Amino acid sequence: VTTSDPSRSDGRDRADYVVVGAGAAGIALACRLTEDPSSRVVLLEAGPAAPSSEAAARAVQNGNQPAVAPGLNWKLQAMIKGAPGASAGRQGSVFVYEGGKVVGGSSAVNATLALRGTPRDFADWSESCGDGWSWPAVLPYYRKLEDDPVGPHELHGRDGPMPIRRERRDELRPLHASFANACREAGYGETADHNDSATTGVGVYPKNVVDSVRISTRIAYLDAARGRPNLTIVPDALVDRIVWRSAYAAEGVEAEVGGERRQFLARRVAICAGALNTPPLLMRSGIGDPGELSLLGIEPRVALSGVGVGLMDHPVVGVWGVPTAEACSLGEPARQVLLRYTSARSSVENDMHLCMMGGLDVAALFPALAATSRASTVAGLLCTYNRSTSRGHVRAVSRDPRTKPAAVINCLNEPSDIPPLCDGVRLAWKMFKHPELTCKFDRLLAWTDSLVDSDAGLAQAVKAFVRPAAHLGCSARMGKSPEDGAVVDPHARIHGVDNVWVVDMSIAPALPTAPPHLTCLMVAEKIAAELRGMD
Ligand SMILES: Cc1cc2nc3c(=O)[nH]c(=O)nc-3n(C[C@H](O)[C@H](O)[C@H](O)COP(=O)(O)OP(=O)(O)OC[C@H]3O[C@@H](n4cnc5c(N)ncnc54)[C@H](O)[C@@H]3O)c2cc1C
Repeated sequence: VTTSDPSRSDGRDRADYVVVGAGAAGIALACRLTEDPSSRVVLLEAGPAAPSSEAAARAVQNGNQPAVAPGLNWKLQAMIKGAPGASAGRQGSVFVYEGGKVVGGSSAVNATLALRGTPRDFADWSESCGDGWSWPAVLPYYRKLEDDPVGPHELHGRDGPMPIRRERRDELRPLHASFANACREAGYGETADHNDSATTGVGVYPKNVVDSVRISTRIAYLDAARGRPNLTIVPDALVDRIVWRSAYAAEGVEAEVGGERRQFLARRVAICAGALNTPPLLMRSGIGDPGELSLLGIEPRVALSGVGVGLMDHPVVGVWGVPTAEACSLGEPARQVLLRYTSARSSVENDMHLCMMGGLDVAALFPALAATSRASTVAGLLCTYNRSTSRGHVRAVSRDPRTKPAAVINCLNEPSDIPPLCDGVRLAWKMFKHPELTCKFDRLLAWTDSLVDSDAGLAQAVKAFVRPAAHLGCSARMGKSPEDGAVVDPHARIHGVDNVWVVDMSIAPALPTAPPHLTCLMVAEKIAAELRGMD
């Protein structure tokens, strides 16, 4: 935390920017903005400056596994399916999002898979958001954020803050090496770079991990920027709402800091609180559907019916088993090998991802699975459909910023999302029959030959076992017109508001065909460049 704090000078000394949320996007944005020494930025974060216990610090450092530890995660709940009559308490219907509540945000706790969106994704984005979001327009920002030694210069950046690395073949653990062999023998080709969208097939995961350490945005961006006199970081600051200077212009935000209410004033406000927290913050500020706001006793200021609507996550179905003692050990890299392939009848390449996951601390990560398996570790194949179209929503249910929002993911609400996952499970099942994999499992859980063979049974089971991938986005969508449900314009500025931007995964019009972390950083890099260009 730096000592100069523009917000402390009784409101007269405004910062240029107040950035809400020191997560993936907020940190990247604040660090790029403060490269201009004349631009003063205050970065507010609800969580602590650093993990508050030894266990949490170890978890954040370990790039081999997602980090779940006391005091580190938001633990926001979402209904997996919004079926009428489903109640939040019903077992199996609720997913707990372990998003990071610490400087670094979810970038400090995530699974470190570093995959880009594809040219096809941005052909779609540019339809609703214009040419500024076409593949040629976004590629320079994917390049800018990364330091990736693989592939041609036109495709990959070499000197960006975020290191992207791939394990060597001789570093693959037995389960992952066997999965790669099974894919090759099933006829899939090999790729040396899953971030080259011209490729398909099986290859090693790109990850933002160096020497087993998770390189969050806190390490990649913030460590270099921390000493800048124009950057003030305020941890443990829970932002309640935007403070207004006139009907449609903000003058900053109000937050709870150490039991005190404080205002942080700035010329421009950037909301980067993540896909589940940004919409409730907008609602508490009077931005949203007027009827919903009135029900909460909030005076409507800017009518935008799209706030919180359209929330997306990638649906995943796991085929799990209990591995033999030799197959994998607790704590080893959870994922090393990924198969990208195109589902039957799809016009979108590489819409399916199949990966082996092993060495998990199931009790911490998947308590329900730990209870069913009665094993200390499990491993399995995860089938992820990356072009799902089902959408849900997230809303504030109170004016109190401490009240958790209500979220519904609606996995597989669209019937067309089901067949690719059914085929994915059949492919996973076939992989398990490969002799190298069969001998690495003591037993498989839940799935049987007859279930996988039956069309109706398989579809039912997929609907029952599906869960979200923790790849949230699209809850404050970008688009040209608020009439189409857009919340921000193609420059990420809130429609109808003068000086407030939303810069996080909320604004994605649709999820990329990949986990979203790199895309979120690309968005932050692009908007940072636009904002710097405005001065
Ligand atoms: C367990 C897990 C595993 C994941 N694995 C992967 C992966 O392997 N690969 C991948 O690409 N993506 C992965 N993701 C998703 C990826 O981490 C996110 O897409 C990305 O971090 C989103 O960035 P963001 O800036 O939108 O939100 P975040 O990174 O979550 O940042 C939001 C920040 O805002 C803060 N905040 C929220 N509300 C307030 C408030 N009111 N006041 C002040 N601060 C506030 C939060 O504490 C947080 O620090 C994973 C996510 C999770 C949770």
